Amino acid sequence: MGCSDAQRAGIFPGYNPPVAVHILDAMSREDFEEVVAFQDRESGLRAFLALHDTSGGPAFGGIRRFAYATEKAALLDCLRLSLAMSWKVALAGLPGGGGKLVLLDRPGLDLERVYRELGVSIERLGGRYYAGPDVGTGERELGWVAAATRHVTPPGEEGPGDLTGATCSGAFAGVAAALCQLDGEEDWPRRTVVIQGLGNVGRGMARLLTERGARVRATELDAERAAAAERELGIELLEPGTEFEAEADVFCPCAMGGVLHDVTIRRLAARAVAGAANNVLAKSRHGDQLHERGILYVPDFVINSGAVIRGATFHLRGEPAGKDEIGRRIGSVAAEVLRRAAAEARPPARVAAEEAERRIAERRAARATLSKN
Ligand code: NAD
Repeated sequence: MGCSDAQRAGIFPGYNPPVAVHILDAMSREDFEEVVAFQDRESGLRAFLALHDTSGGPAFGGIRRFAYATEKAALLDCLRLSLAMSWKVALAGLPGGGGKLVLLDRPGLDLERVYRELGVSIERLGGRYYAGPDVGTGERELGWVAAATRHVTPPGEEGPGDLTGATCSGAFAGVAAALCQLDGEEDWPRRTVVIQGLGNVGRGMARLLTERGARVRATELDAERAAAAERELGIELLEPGTEFEAEADVFCPCAMGGVLHDVTIRRLAARAVAGAANNVLAKSRHGDQLHERGILYVPDFVINSGAVIRGATFHLRGEPAGKDEIGRRIGSVAAEVLRRAAAEARPPARVAAEEAERRIAERRAARATLSKN
């Protein structure tokens, strides 16, 4: 008698049930160009790369290392993140596209070997994908990848510099755009912003806001990190979980994705949402719910592209875009999305997604014309 998946999982640690996802169907739903699976038994490398679009240039997107429960979960995350990158790159007006690489982590993996092997695999793609940092992949890991390929954000002195600062500049411009759309001015000293998450980006946002005199209240799960931010920046800490009910002009999510859903949106007391966390809406319909409740939502993929703008401009023109340029670029796209959404009385997330898709379709049509001639 054969054994079940559950039995196999008990017998073979690390065994995952087979992928029960129709890859081509999943790709065709959002019109993905290519999905690549990397496997190397020697090093233990197991990864997926989704290239959503390269019609305007190389696909930019980080390497996420995560202990996914199943291959299916990894693949779906890869597709979702890759599409979001395409939208970010299109709205940022960069001559490139979106991609994402997810590396399946597990205990005992020889990380240096795996990342070095990944560098070889990225090099084989001939420049169609340009890798950057993401969850689980920082300067150390990028250094290992860079040993085998130029198509990666180099760490340290060789690289584009402060990517987190670039993200903060863009997200800050998004908060400013929300306030201007609501009240016609920023008027920082009279504003309250509630930040969820005081990690790299959340702390940077808190600093930019307090420097301008805004009142910042924040939640953070890590008690030490929270106390340090309170001490250094003079911000007010809230009990994690209470950030949704806290009265504020802007709720600024800088922790995990999926935090705005049926329950939290009902509790949300802020007048606007603008932050850096990726995929902050649990489902796209939650953008409509915010709109129905009269809460202005500045879509994450419009305002959290600072790091990719900095990394891509470094790669494409040899010099990274500065923080001011990034803030200006993102601020003007965010303002335009909010203005158009207001004029059409539609949710900004729909307006922004349609604009991103229109730009991608235009590039694809131009490429198709070129290849015919
Ligand atoms: P980080 O890991 O440094 O910080 C996240 C912080 O959020 C941590 O301190 C964590 O303890 C805290 N946290 C997690 N869940 C929480 C909760 N429920 N309530 C309160 N605090 C919580 O990550 P980061 O680099 O600051 O990135 C933050 C977000 O911005 C992520 O979603 C990331 O994908 C997104 N983002 C980051 C960049 C970048 O340049 N770092 C670029 C684009 C998007």
